[in-house]
Amino acid sequence: MPFQKVRVRFAPSPTGPLHMGGVRTALYNYLFAKKNGGDFILRIEDTDQKRFVEGAEEYIINSLKWCGITIDEGIGAGGDYGPYRQSERKEIYKEYANQLIESGNAYYAFDSSEELEEMRERLKAAKVATPQYNAVTRETMKNSLTLSDDEVKSRLASGDPHTIRIKVPRKEEIRIKDIIRGWVVVHSSKIDDKIIFKSDGMPTYHMANVIDDHLMKISHVIRGEEWLPSTPVHVLLYKFLGWEDEMPEFAHLPLLLKPDGNGKLSKRDGDQLGFPVFPLEWKDPASGETYSGYRENGYFPEAFLNILAFLGWNPGTTSEFFNLDELIEAFSLERVGKSGSKFDLEKAHWYNQHYLRNKSNKELAELLMPVLKENNITAEADFVEQVCGLMKERATFIPDMMEGKYFFERPTEYDEKTLRKKWKQESPSIVAGLRELIKSTEDFTSDILEKKIKEHLEKNEISIGIAMPNLRLLTCGVGSGPSIFDVIALLGKNETLARIDESLIHIQKQQPAN
Ligand code: GLU
Repeated sequence: MPFQKVRVRFAPSPTGPLHMGGVRTALYNYLFAKKNGGDFILRIEDTDQKRFVEGAEEYIINSLKWCGITIDEGIGAGGDYGPYRQSERKEIYKEYANQLIESGNAYYAFDSSEELEEMRERLKAAKVATPQYNAVTRETMKNSLTLSDDEVKSRLASGDPHTIRIKVPRKEEIRIKDIIRGWVVVHSSKIDDKIIFKSDGMPTYHMANVIDDHLMKISHVIRGEEWLPSTPVHVLLYKFLGWEDEMPEFAHLPLLLKPDGNGKLSKRDGDQLGFPVFPLEWKDPASGETYSGYRENGYFPEAFLNILAFLGWNPGTTSEFFNLDELIEAFSLERVGKSGSKFDLEKAHWYNQHYLRNKSNKELAELLMPVLKENNITAEADFVEQVCGLMKERATFIPDMMEGKYFFERPTEYDEKTLRKKWKQESPSIVAGLRELIKSTEDFTSDILEKKIKEHLEKNEISIGIAMPNLRLLTCGVGSGPSIFDVIALLGKNETLARIDESLIHIQKQQPAN
C-alpha cells in the first residue's frame, strides 16, 4: 500500500439532510478507520452552488455527533490538510485543470447549451442510444480540439463562457479494483468527456473529489454504489495527473432498499412507510415540509448504529448486538455484501427494545422525566425509576412507558373490554375480600402480596382469572400491565386501598355489573 496510514473521508454534499444511507457510509468509514488505527475525515463537497441548502452542513455535523461518530480531522476538527470545504479550495483545483490541459488530457469547450441540445437531438435522430460528448462527437463540437489556437486564445481572453472537459481515450479498458466487488472493468467508449471545470469557475465533483483525495492522502474511498459509474473517470484523472501509483483503494457500498426490496430507499419513503429515513428531524427550508428523524422518533443512537451496521455488513457469527466499540472490533470491508439491503422495521424496533431494556432504571427515568413533564405529571425520581423498572419489558420506545401513566394518576376511566368481560355480579364481593386482605398485609412486598392473595383465592375458590383483572381494573383502570402484585406493592397500601374505594364508586356509576 502506498499509504503509511489509513485515512478515510466522509465527503457529503450539503444539498439537504443526510439520508440514513449517508450515515451508514459515514459509519463504515469510521469503523474502518478506527479498526485500522486510522483517521476519519469530514470534507464538505459544496462545489455545486445551485444545490446548496442552508443548514445542511450543520445537520450533517449534528447527525454524526448524535451517533457518536467523532471526526478526527476536517470540518469542525481542523487538521493539516485544510481547508476542508471545497468552496474554499477553488484556487487549488484551477492549477490542476491547467496541468491537464497542458498535458493534452483535458480541453476547453465553448458549446452553448443550445448547441449541446442540438448535438443530442442529432444523435438521437441517428438512433444513438446514449448521446454523449465523447471521443467521437467532440470532433464536431466547439472546443479547443476543433478550433484554431488563435480562436481559443481570443475566446479565453474575451471571457467567453467555457467549461473544461476531460479527454477520455477512445479505446481503453479502465480497471477498477473494488474491495467489495472485485475487479470492475469499464470500456472507455462508455464514458463521456465529463466536465471537470464549470463555466462558473468551480470544479465539478469528479475533479475536486480526486484532487482532494490525493492531497489529503486518502488511502481508502468508501462510498455508496451510486458513485461506481463515476469511478472510471476518477481513475483516468489519477492517471492523467500522474498519481496512478498513489491511487486510493475503492469500496462501493450496496444500496439501501425499501422494505419490500423494490428500489432504493428514498427520502419520501420513510414517513409513508412508518419509519424515518433521516437521523434527525429536518425541516426543509424551501418547502417548509418536515421529515421525521430517528432521534425524534425515540430511537437510541446505539440502536440506530446497530441497525445501520447490519444493513450491508454482518459479523459472520450469530451475534446481533454490537455497540460502537464492538462494531469497530468486528468490522471489515470484506464482510460487506454486494447486494442491496432491505430496511426491516420490525428488526429496527427489536434493536431499540434491546437497548431500552439494557438501560438502568435510573437512565430510563431521566429519559422519561421530560415525557412526564409534557403530560403535566410530577413525580419523585426514585418512584419514576421503579416505574421504569416495571414498564421497561413492555416498551420499545421511552414514551411507550406512558402506558403506565396510572402509576402517577388514579384511574377515572376503565378499560371497556375488560369491564365487559371481567366485571361480574360477584366482583364487588371478590374485591371486598381482596381489600380486607390487602389492608391486613403488614409487609407490603410483591412476593408476600402474591402469596397471600393466591392462598386466599384458592381457599375461597375464587377464579384468579376474574379476581386479578378486577384488582387491576380498580387500581389502574387497564386490562393488562406488569405483574399486578408488583404494581400494588409499588403503589403502596394506602394508595391501593384508596384507589379500590374510589374506583368502585366510579365503576358502579359507569356500568352495572354483568
Ligand atoms: N459528495 C459526494 C456525495 O455527496 C461524495 C461521493 C464520494 O464519497 O466520493 O455523496
